[in-house]
Amino acid sequence: MTANPPPARIGAPPFAGRTTREWQAADASHFLHPFTDHQALASKGVRVITRGEGVYVWDSEGQRILDAMSGLWCVNVGYGQESLIEAATQQMRTLPYYNAFFQTTTPAATALAERLAARTPESFRHAFFCGSGSEANDTVIRLVRRYWDLMGQPQRKVIISRLNAYHGSTMAAASLGGMSAMHAQGGLPIPGIVHIDQPHYWAHRHGAAQGLDREAFGLLAARWLEDKIAEVGAGNVAAFIGEPVQGAGGVIVPPSTYWPEIQRICDRHGILLVSDEVVCGFGRTGQWWGCETFGTKPDLLTFAKGVTSGYVPLGGVMVGERVARLLIEQGGEFEHGYTYSGHPVACAVGLANLDLIEREDLVARVREDTGPYLAQQLATLMEHPMVGEVQSCGLMAAVQLCRNVPLREAFAPEIAIGMVCRRHCFDNGLVMRAVGDRMIVAPPLVITRGQIDEMFALVRQALDRTLAEARAAGWLS
Ligand SMILES: *Cc1c(COP(=O)(O)O)cnc(C)c1O
Repeated sequence: MTANPPPARIGAPPFAGRTTREWQAADASHFLHPFTDHQALASKGVRVITRGEGVYVWDSEGQRILDAMSGLWCVNVGYGQESLIEAATQQMRTLPYYNAFFQTTTPAATALAERLAARTPESFRHAFFCGSGSEANDTVIRLVRRYWDLMGQPQRKVIISRLNAYHGSTMAAASLGGMSAMHAQGGLPIPGIVHIDQPHYWAHRHGAAQGLDREAFGLLAARWLEDKIAEVGAGNVAAFIGEPVQGAGGVIVPPSTYWPEIQRICDRHGILLVSDEVVCGFGRTGQWWGCETFGTKPDLLTFAKGVTSGYVPLGGVMVGERVARLLIEQGGEFEHGYTYSGHPVACAVGLANLDLIEREDLVARVREDTGPYLAQQLATLMEHPMVGEVQSCGLMAAVQLCRNVPLREAFAPEIAIGMVCRRHCFDNGLVMRAVGDRMIVAPPLVITRGQIDEMFALVRQALDRTLAEARAAGWLS
């Protein structure tokens, strides 16, 4: 798998050329990484990624790695796409920055808003831009509360979300999310945000889902929303937010009954529905938007990651007509915005990214070709003695590891079997993520069938090595 001989000194000017060890030492001294145990990383040494091409990246030792996570769910068109690079370069040359605060715009920002309005479900005609998914979800809180103020129902402030949801990492976005480890640090969630349990069939297999098929469980899980509304009081609830498929939570594909029932409940109580499409948007699920795959009509839709395929940061909110009309016609000034709302370089890259997705017909390719092919390959893993469940939706998939398949027994948590498997993946030249005991992939949408085969060969190899290690250690019996 090693394509290049390891370069002795890495980093072209303006970065000083250094060896891997020198980069590791500098990194340990100065770079506090996101979501990282700093001390543990420093003792091990960070991996330095130096370049990317297509679905592969290379590290500073010259090892080629198949990036089955698209960076962090974002590099949907793969690495090295000239048209995106060219768009950024040209925009930087022409106008690297101008703001959108003072009754001004740039062609790139307005054109991207127009383009997104045409590409999203009909009820969306306006885009609000931010720098990230977290900021987009912060903006959602501002928008829904402003909406209910203008509606003359200012007491409607509570936003209902789900446990194990991921909506970002600012104070507000982390509060909207349902990650217990995040809530345990910094006194989260902030007031006015409450959570219901997730539609996770496997996690509830010995509890709420026992004796139910997936579809019956989907209805049950959706009705947890109705219970929560009754508890909070419908007149106090502003909105419900959810990812169509929970991404960072472990690729939790909800039963097909879940989202239509959520929609029914929101409609019944007049509650705004927010679809966090930061992962699911731009074709990941085989439709342009996850809400189209699952049959909901959200009032607000947040996006980030795939809008620029991660080449430069950009996020935003598509504001449905129900909210937009009121805001525009009766709201006066909306006291919210970011320096980089509508950043022209980011928007130019967004436009080039949309062009590429359309030109290559990537969404249909995921829906009709690579998505079904991935599902078919995934199904063969069910014969593996350590795989309890496989789930996929378009080009995102999960493999649930368990210790005893017939009894669907989990491994002891202290074994951290997911991390064991992830180590074998890394050693094999594959980036696959572990969420607890669930192994997940979300490869670039440009991945070919041949590369999916290559990915599965690496996945199988990692599972077999994990199994061998588990047998030797006596973790299975
Ligand atoms: C990554 C993510 C976010 C946060 O986006 P950032 O750009 O990291 O702030 C929000 N929602 C979902 C579903 C995500 O996966």
